[in-house]
Amino acid sequence: MVNKYIMALDQGTTSSRCILFDHEGRIVTSVQQEFPQIFPQPGWVEHDPAEIRATQLGVAMGAMQKINASPSQIEAIGITNQRETTVVWDAATGAPVYNAIVWQCRRTADRIEQMKAEGWTEKVRAKTGLLPDAYFSASKIAWILDNVPGVRERAERGELRFGTIDTWLIWNLTDGAVHVTDYTNASRTMLFDIHRLCWDEELLGYFGIPMSMMPAVVPSSGILGYTEKFGGRIPIAGVAGDQQAALFGQCGFKAGDVKTTYGTGGFMLLNTGNEPVMADNGLLTTIAATLPAGDEESKNKVQYALEGSVFVAGAAIQWLRDELKIVESAPASERCCLEVPDTGGVYVVPAFTGMGAPYWNSAAKGSIFGITRGTSRSHLVRATVESLAYQTEDLLQAMRDASGIDIRALQVDGGAAANNFLMQFQSDISDAWIIRPGCIETTALGAAYLAGLAVGYWENAEDVLKNHTIDREFTPQIGAKERTEKLRGWKRAVRAALSWAED
Ligand code: ADP
Repeated sequence: MVNKYIMALDQGTTSSRCILFDHEGRIVTSVQQEFPQIFPQPGWVEHDPAEIRATQLGVAMGAMQKINASPSQIEAIGITNQRETTVVWDAATGAPVYNAIVWQCRRTADRIEQMKAEGWTEKVRAKTGLLPDAYFSASKIAWILDNVPGVRERAERGELRFGTIDTWLIWNLTDGAVHVTDYTNASRTMLFDIHRLCWDEELLGYFGIPMSMMPAVVPSSGILGYTEKFGGRIPIAGVAGDQQAALFGQCGFKAGDVKTTYGTGGFMLLNTGNEPVMADNGLLTTIAATLPAGDEESKNKVQYALEGSVFVAGAAIQWLRDELKIVESAPASERCCLEVPDTGGVYVVPAFTGMGAPYWNSAAKGSIFGITRGTSRSHLVRATVESLAYQTEDLLQAMRDASGIDIRALQVDGGAAANNFLMQFQSDISDAWIIRPGCIETTALGAAYLAGLAVGYWENAEDVLKNHTIDREFTPQIGAKERTEKLRGWKRAVRAALSWAED
């Protein structure tokens, strides 16, 4: 019998990757290629859509060649992508009218400030689950329409199409036959009504975006088209934005399941089930990648998630390594932490770019408190590593408060999740069971699961859950008193950092 695989296309901010998974959810092969970041002005970030297409198709070909897989051995393709990044192209020629404007790009910050001043914040939140920000696609599309000569007229004549990166890839994979996005990506545009599950006419009107540019919105799991780009006909059957794909890859299928990613930044997603939870503490409400509908009734149902982010997570470890030069590598931070029994009362608040949920203070700066004559390098390193856990606990508490769910288990992934000291400390201060999966490539795995479930490669959730292996679990080793004391110290440090920002 020939082996069959699911192909995951993982289109990230700095690289395009393709991973082929087998039925056990194991990585059979993986090929990755970086592509250039374009910085036309300070604070502006762009990608060349042609580079994204070329690298993504290239790594897909490369992965198949690496194991000599024929197209008939690829059962389906799943796509996961950097979210919010915006492309506008000509429907007839497929040519982009401008570079892709990347999620990080701040060029429309003033436009968003104006929107807030005009009193739109509550309305945006109620409709989209988001807080107005330049991060999301809406103001980026408007910028292209307003600033690229002739583009607004072409858009109004119905000649242009908008897409996030999933949409751009699917359009190209199907030679322009399919113009779709999925619910998870749509929910990050700030144009999608997450309750009615449709594009919001009022928000499109506010930004002057014609409805004819917008893709059809489909469930994350289901055949949406076929590609012939790899020498045979292969269904494209799964799509989700990167964070939602990661939650799905962690098998976060039911309400109460939560994952947190310790990458350069940190991202936490809590599945809240079929009802959206609207939070007022800076968390965003979004649509989760949802299992394919089992019956007619659940066909148009989606699951929702609460999302929160930590701006600086692994980046704080990079700071220790690259600026302070007190650890030689990120993994070496773990050894350093274990050289001392505690931080000696030191707290590091790594608010290098302000503080996110639940504090929301863009003026906050990184701060170190409680230094004495006896403070050593190891204390400082340990306090920095611990700060990743404290920030994660703050998000977790915000999620507990908003959802009323007593979260007891946390699925982890991302580079810094490899740090055992950090994982144990997280378990201690969050009084939670930390679960690190066997397959750390949860984003690509989530896209593969969504696609594989749609074509019957995996039959149902139970079939997928059989693949969910655990690398290591961590359980709380400290008592309530010690936990409370540590958290009190952290809160005090955050208060002090915020007070510095106010002055
Ligand atoms: P991204 O996808 O955001 O690029 P990754 O998930 O690859 O991030 O994680 C990389 C980050 O994790 C880096 O910021 C690095 O400093 C941090 N990191 C990697 N290994 C460790 C470790 N053992 N301990 C602490 N931090 C680590």
